[in-house]
Amino acid sequence: MAYIGRFAPTPSGPLHFGSLVAALASYLDARANQGLWLLRIEDLDPPRTAAGSIDAILRCLEAFGLHWDGEPMYQSQPQRQHAYQHALDQLKQQQRVYACACSRAQFTRDANYLCTCAQQTVTSAQVAQRVISPNQVVYTDDLILPAQSQNLAREVGDFVIQRKDQLFAYQLAVVVDDAEQGISHVIRGSDLYDQTPRQVWLQQCLGYPQPTYAHIPIITNGQGQKLSKQNLAQALELNQTSALLSEALERLGQATPCDFRQASVSQQLEWAIQHWDIHAIPAQMQHPDAFV
Ligand code: GLU
Repeated sequence: MAYIGRFAPTPSGPLHFGSLVAALASYLDARANQGLWLLRIEDLDPPRTAAGSIDAILRCLEAFGLHWDGEPMYQSQPQRQHAYQHALDQLKQQQRVYACACSRAQFTRDANYLCTCAQQTVTSAQVAQRVISPNQVVYTDDLILPAQSQNLAREVGDFVIQRKDQLFAYQLAVVVDDAEQGISHVIRGSDLYDQTPRQVWLQQCLGYPQPTYAHIPIITNGQGQKLSKQNLAQALELNQTSALLSEALERLGQATPCDFRQASVSQQLEWAIQHWDIHAIPAQMQHPDAFV
């Protein structure tokens, strides 16, 4: 099977060092396997798209020499929305979906809150669509982290695939788009590791092929917190690309030559593609304080 990888950022802010490490790992794995590397902008939730962030993400990837193949896919495009609707309809036909009028607050306020929407006809105007999690164990393999087995009904529960505001949820869109783009390898941050069984199960329901997964350990800041836009991980400095790229390669456990940060971005990438070793990625990563 041909190798097709992807990077799928949500444009809720600029890329930070953690995003660079994930993008770099998926890029190198694709290129080292003579694969394609596609870009998907996950702008599913237009109000969360920060002004200018899509352009900033594209410019940033280019500055780090991470050139993608073809045109980026945008989840906000009408044809993507039709594809998500089609997948939702398929799941409805399989009687796996029910309308739910509960609010997120009801679930967050009370950990034992029991939604009874599946047992009744919900008449509210504003409903979310939930997919019924099966009482079955879903196994997923991972090239970096341990394999998982998760009982979706017990460990996750029925999950939302279309929100009350009618926006499609990430879990559905990611599965539909990975299939549409023919993605064979998903290399991404380990914050999505425990969501993989949900995605694999949706792939099975929808008759899609299952990609190979690899989850890159989360980078933490000096306080042990995950770097994210929420805790204001600093946007990448585009005038320090060589230093940041060699730092990212080191975090990925790649045995870079001495004085590597003096090498240009394209020299570093050329070396890294030739020497890429996904098994050298450590199980835990610390963010270099200098860049926080
Ligand atoms: N859009 C997600 C993010 O920016 C990544 C989704 C994925 O790789 O499956 O964190």
